[in-house]
Amino acid sequence: MNIYERALKTWGKEPQMLQVIEEMSELTKEILKNINRKKDNVAELIEETADVEIMLSQLKCCYNITKEVEDYKAQKLIKIAKRLDEWDKEHGNTAA
Ligand SMILES: [Mg+2]
Repeated sequence: MNIYERALKTWGKEPQMLQVIEEMSELTKEILKNINRKKDNVAELIEETADVEIMLSQLKCCYNITKEVEDYKAQKLIKIAKRLDEWDKEHGNTAA
């Protein structure tokens, strides 16, 4: 049993999924502080990003969707790369 499965088994699905939301809101708050208030909070951004990544791993474990998310993400990244290529072409960028 991995650490995510252990956490879900120990603390339960609902509390852990609420924890996903809590961590995402903490990261949201730090991004807003950084952008809106020009706060030097890189340490907090690192901490909250790590927290969110951990909880997203737990979410994928909870719903047994790790492989599906990975596949969707790969497809999405291909689409984003195509859009970036089109953007560069339209704007005369040659850096890529
Ligand atoms: Mg946190």
